[in-house]
Amino acid sequence: NPLAHSIPPQQEKVSDEVAPFVGAKLFEQLPISNRTKRSLADAKFINMTAIQRAALPHALCGRDVLGAAKTGSGKTLAFLIPVVEKLYRLQWGSMDGVGAIIISPTRELAVQIFEELRKVGKHHNLSGGLLIGGRKDIDSEKGRVNRLNILVCTPGRLLQHMDETPNFDCTQLQVLVLDEADRILDMGFANTLNAIVTQLPKQRQTLLFSATQTKSVKDLARLSLKDPEYLAVHAES
Ligand code: ADP
Ligand code: MG
Repeated sequence: NPLAHSIPPQQEKVSDEVAPFVGAKLFEQLPISNRTKRSLADAKFINMTAIQRAALPHALCGRDVLGAAKTGSGKTLAFLIPVVEKLYRLQWGSMDGVGAIIISPTRELAVQIFEELRKVGKHHNLSGGLLIGGRKDIDSEKGRVNRLNILVCTPGRLLQHMDETPNFDCTQLQVLVLDEADRILDMGFANTLNAIVTQLPKQRQTLLFSATQTKSVKDLARLSLKDPEYLAVHAES
């Protein structure tokens, strides 16, 4: 089973809020909305992968998470479920604007995240958009970014909107996700990321996922996360 992993025995004492869900193996067992449960079941997501089992109980109770697990281990759902749940619990609507930003290193990965978001959000009323540059003309995006609730972006395009789009408003942001953080840094986006993060509200939840735990990832975590839960899942060889 390519998704089988073992969690190292580094478990610290977890809070009373998280503890009941630490042993959960099925999405069905998580403290999430019926809307999300139905969306996951429709997509045939039943059993959680190791990184999902490790990260979701913490992320769902609002903690910052630094999650490391190899490619293909299911990191996308480990952040999309908390994003959708947070906005649903706050009864986020079209007038509330940008509630979550997900940053991905490449357009292709952003598109994959967006496709997974469609599945998780199937029974929700949240709006999402891709801001990834390429063929799409930025001016056509400018009019609608403020009406979107969840933005899936590449770093350069997001910063371009922050700099150029009149009334681009992230002041209500609840959750920031940095996905494939090691690749974002390898591709030379450290300064872009810093410029983005300094413009975001400090009061937010941040979820950082990475395939590897390099020093630069840890430096980024120090800059962007608050008292994070470190969750590393190693492949069974
Ligand atoms: P990563 O980001 O860690 O590389 P992904 O989130 O892209 O991994 O997931 C890899 C594949 O596994 C995707 O096709 C995804 O739909 C699938 N997947 C993720 N979680 C589950 C799960 N709990 N059950 C079944 N398939 C899953
Ligand atoms: Mg991924």
